[in-house]
Amino acid sequence: MTLADLVFNASAVQNSRCSMHPHINSNEFADPEWERIRNDWRDEIFLPVLRGQVQRAMDTMPKVYHSYGERGIDHRDIRTMDNFYSLPVLPKDASFGIRGLRQLASEDPYALLPNDVEGSATAYFSGGTRAGTLGPSPTFLTPWDIEVESHAFARLYERSGLKRGSVVINTYNASHKGGRAVIAALEKLGCIHIQAKSSDKAEDIAGYIQQFGARGVVLIGVQPPVTEGDPQGKGSGRTIHAIRDVDPIAFDEYVKHVQIGGSPIIPELEAWSRSGIGKPVISIYGATEVLPVFFGTGYGLEDRLCKYNTLHASYGPHLVEVLKLEGKRMVPVQKGETGLLALTTVFREGTILLRYLIGDEARFIGDWNSCPCGATTPLYDNIRRTDVPEEILNTGCVSL
Ligand SMILES: [Zn+2]
Repeated sequence: MTLADLVFNASAVQNSRCSMHPHINSNEFADPEWERIRNDWRDEIFLPVLRGQVQRAMDTMPKVYHSYGERGIDHRDIRTMDNFYSLPVLPKDASFGIRGLRQLASEDPYALLPNDVEGSATAYFSGGTRAGTLGPSPTFLTPWDIEVESHAFARLYERSGLKRGSVVINTYNASHKGGRAVIAALEKLGCIHIQAKSSDKAEDIAGYIQQFGARGVVLIGVQPPVTEGDPQGKGSGRTIHAIRDVDPIAFDEYVKHVQIGGSPIIPELEAWSRSGIGKPVISIYGATEVLPVFFGTGYGLEDRLCKYNTLHASYGPHLVEVLKLEGKRMVPVQKGETGLLALTTVFREGTILLRYLIGDEARFIGDWNSCPCGATTPLYDNIRRTDVPEEILNTGCVSL
């Protein structure tokens, strides 16, 4: 099935519930056409599913979405994306006088598990940088959800040149949700996957590069800022710079690409742009709750907008918005403006997030079809974690 077929079949999934995808297999999200999608096609595909998800959110996650009922929101009224964009936002933490998702989760974690999910669901925890006493909140994913996100990850890797037989040395923490998605994506692509142990030091990983480097390798790392390292970080002692420092000659000869992930991804990408180490960088920005969100491929190509700290939005399976407060409504930012990321899980059986303010911000710099790389989706830069929406919007109490 092509994306065009999905557009023509979109009405078939209208108003559907957990069985929203009888006409959509998880491997539809492996299609590289998602990165070349037309914005009107995206909306045609998303709208019927969003209608179903709004109704389902109200029915199956009532503690999270009770305000929808109080406001008289009716999913049938969501006929355009503008209608959808008028729905209330859902903040991560208490903001603007309304309670946040993390507080709801601390009171009742099952509030985040749709009550129509039957069978397996896995809870992944997102701590955030200011989890404080509320602790991490769970995102519940079904096996289908994990498949969908893994296919989306795989198509972004494929875009970066990874293919069957590519050798990948992966230092990502495999117990983390992103780490599992990486592994699943590499398996789908048919890569030769070398999974580092969590106890491996930079010397051990440099040893893998020497051992497996004959075919050329891709090195995947998620770590605190590459230039400094961070003894408390989840990749402590094995930043990509630290790995290179063990044996720069082997690194420069054998490593063909690096992938950098984790929330400080933008400073890391900028550090690489200044490092003089001319390795293409694959970057995928996501969160435990929703991934992938943004992607960048390549490095230092002057004819492209998507380089260094500029990343494309990734649509399918999820929806990304960047919003600012205008009056009492959250509306999309204009080009050049910075706003808050709002993420919507369009195709998901587990935890439904609608216009979820995850606590990250980004600046909108390029509209649809503005980048010569071939990806059609909008471009953003200065993407970073804030966790404190009010510090950006600096407003009083508003009704969202
Ligand atoms: Zn591009």
